[in-house]
Amino acid sequence: MKKKYCYLFTEGNANMRELLGGKGANLAEMTNIGLPVPQGFTISTEACTQYYEDGRKINDDIMAEIMEYVAKMEEITGKKFGDRENPLLVSVRSGARASMPGMMDTILNLGLNEDVVEVMAKKSGNPRWAWDCYRRFIQMYSDVVMEVGKKYFEQLIDAMKEKKGVTQDVELSADDLKELATQFKAEYKAKIGEDFPTDPKEQLIGAVKAVFRSWDNPRANVYRRDNDIPYSWGTAVNVQMMAFGNMGDDCGTGVAFTRDPATGEKKLMGEFLTNAQGEDVVAGVRTPMPISQMAEKFPEAFKQFTSVCKILEDHYRDMQDMEFTVENQKLYMLQTRNGKRTAKAALKIACDLVDEGMISEKDAVLMIDPRNLDTLLHPQFDANALKKAEVAGRGLGASPGAACGKIVFSAEDAKAWKAKGEKVVLVRLETSPEDIEGMKAAEGILTVRGGMTSHAAVVARGMGKCCVSGCGDINMDEDNKKFELAGKTYREGDYISIDGSTGNIYDGIIPTSDATISGEFGRIMAWADKYRVLKVRTNADTPADAKKAVELGAEGIGLCRTEHMFFEADRIAAFREMICADNVEQREAALDKILPMQQSDFEALFEAMQGNPVTIRFLDPPLHEFVPTEEAEIELLANAQGKTVDDIRVIIASLHEFNPMLGHRGCRLSVTYPEIAKMQTRAVIRAAIKVQNDHPEWKVVPEIEVPLVGELREFNTVKKIVVDTADEEIRSAGINLKYEVGTMIEIPRACLTADEIAKEAEFFCFGTNDLTQMTFGFSRDDAGKFLGAYYDAKIYESDPFAKLDQIGVGRLMKMACELGKSTNKALHIGICGEHGGDPSSVEFCHKLGLEYVSCSPFRVPIARLAAAQAAIKESK
Ligand code: PEP
Ligand code: MG
Repeated sequence: MKKKYCYLFTEGNANMRELLGGKGANLAEMTNIGLPVPQGFTISTEACTQYYEDGRKINDDIMAEIMEYVAKMEEITGKKFGDRENPLLVSVRSGARASMPGMMDTILNLGLNEDVVEVMAKKSGNPRWAWDCYRRFIQMYSDVVMEVGKKYFEQLIDAMKEKKGVTQDVELSADDLKELATQFKAEYKAKIGEDFPTDPKEQLIGAVKAVFRSWDNPRANVYRRDNDIPYSWGTAVNVQMMAFGNMGDDCGTGVAFTRDPATGEKKLMGEFLTNAQGEDVVAGVRTPMPISQMAEKFPEAFKQFTSVCKILEDHYRDMQDMEFTVENQKLYMLQTRNGKRTAKAALKIACDLVDEGMISEKDAVLMIDPRNLDTLLHPQFDANALKKAEVAGRGLGASPGAACGKIVFSAEDAKAWKAKGEKVVLVRLETSPEDIEGMKAAEGILTVRGGMTSHAAVVARGMGKCCVSGCGDINMDEDNKKFELAGKTYREGDYISIDGSTGNIYDGIIPTSDATISGEFGRIMAWADKYRVLKVRTNADTPADAKKAVELGAEGIGLCRTEHMFFEADRIAAFREMICADNVEQREAALDKILPMQQSDFEALFEAMQGNPVTIRFLDPPLHEFVPTEEAEIELLANAQGKTVDDIRVIIASLHEFNPMLGHRGCRLSVTYPEIAKMQTRAVIRAAIKVQNDHPEWKVVPEIEVPLVGELREFNTVKKIVVDTADEEIRSAGINLKYEVGTMIEIPRACLTADEIAKEAEFFCFGTNDLTQMTFGFSRDDAGKFLGAYYDAKIYESDPFAKLDQIGVGRLMKMACELGKSTNKALHIGICGEHGGDPSSVEFCHKLGLEYVSCSPFRVPIARLAAAQAAIKESK
């Protein structure tokens, strides 16, 4: 059967949004429930995907069907394109499956030409209106369809207003507008080299193509990536008979929300303009009046509108965002959709709707976009100040929140300036473990290099600190404490503002406001917990992180990166002594200094988790990350070890690796230096014994995790060290303590041989940062440099380090789960890569049947909600 590409509004309904887009489906639904909707038809999203498949062409079949529907529309409306008696004018608007406000194109008043405008002027007795429509159409068509910049037309309008001595568009007369239309057409011809098209059907096809094309415009591409909207969906096009809000003072146009989109309060919110068309409200050409004033201007239409609002809310059971027009006092509905809202409003609306008996708890849970919760947990920029701010550059939104402060270029400066009472933003080429204290002191962190799983990103997320990483446009000169961005030189002490959610970088100061958590947050989270199956743990390396995570609902620690416990100033010295030791005795002596510190950290983690599971991962990063780089520190180490500075330099040089990510790290460190694994085992087991003794009511079962395993014998080598050491500790304490030994699954070979490894491992935890890195062969710290080109070329749509690649990496995970469970029924499996806090990845983990996801503390609520949504969706 021939595919159908066009649907009259009477042929569709709200469930057809995949095909008709949100706008088309809702126009059909409003038509079905008898609301006043100017009639028309929708060209489906499949026509858009076909347009791209056909090399950006509308093929003959689709073209013929559009013409057939134009004829149907003419019949329904009793008007005809280009008719001298009763001409049909239409709007042409985009409408994707998921709403993308302002991202794509709209054209109004299509169907006008010299003849039609004269007919309209005569028949209506309102030439001003007719010419206003015409000049608007030429302007929009030129801009949207032919891509002649808007500014040329705006300049002509400004010149006309100046000539006439008026300030507002509405003060221009019919003759002025007629003259403007002539000027616009001349401008069009000058820019395009052809006359402005007069055939309405030709105009329509031009407009439809423009809407299809706008699906691929740069702002739509960025919006889609930020909002997880696949490129493959395409947009629909809605062709709708015009209703005119610009016919005179008994006409107008407006947009309104049934509840306040900022606070969620139940009251009609919106704006209205008399004698205007939709784009005047959106573009801010004139200042609209609050919707309440519409009641005075158009009492009848307002009454009808408020009743429509109630009907729509009751029907959709959600806050609606509507566009409407009043033509000669009569109301027309042009759009309705579930309105975009702040996270605060989203929570309030969801709870209120449950209390009003409109929706169930499950519906309320499904209604909240988990990604929005970020804004509740971190400081945000003042919304008004942000509107006025200019974006100076963009990096990756690596850790959400907003930060504003003076630029510093080193961790030491960050600490020192903070001690003086300054707020600072730490700007670095890239961060390293040594920068941790500076990162803590800063309001936010901006790096030139690094992706979503780079050191800065991971550590910042753990701290809940704003971070923008990988802004390659920055031209950095760390030595001279300055950098260039967008043609401006920034020096130490200059103000900068960064947004860790969008990745935007702003010049100067934008005030921030602190996060506020409302009571509704707790209610929604409680409902989420009721319905989710996946457990949610946290990635926490410090007792403070662990406490925060528990407050935010974590049910255990899924990853403690123990290397992060060595960076404090007093510990790193001992650790460096260990690295630079000449023999096992020296190494053990250094490790003995560290052991009590590690033990007390682990005790605090077990305390914070109150008997919930705690996974402690053994040391992972390459050793060169720990060695000193500053002259003074090298000297300090030399003195402590009775060595010369040159000796230390030789050791440091010997640690150099060409490819440290694939080098001497993870379990390879335990294979070469078993003493490290021994020390860490002792610290874990001693801490567990202590906390178990202090809290007999808890069941403390430490999970000792071996990183970067790719082979069973490698795992067994480390496991033996752990078991021998742990059993000896337990024996000598005379206590009965259970512990588990498991492994990260982060090397493709581990996935491929998971059945072997599972014979000995008691648990698996997917380290999808490394697994992504090694599956793609993309360095996790460098991928940011070229991923942009991959998005542009549509090779990948999103950052695989942020959103799990379900097709490739996901397949390896599935294989590892199946193979692992085939040889070890009791095997429990989680994920602790950064994907553990990404909603679509959490849904995938739910489907995979993992036991838990683990993520940084501030993403725990996001994961809880996403896990609940996955379970609810599955049960529906
Ligand atoms: C991982 O690789 O996914 C992981 C959690 O470990 P890390 O980020 O510390 O390498
Ligand atoms: Mg890893």
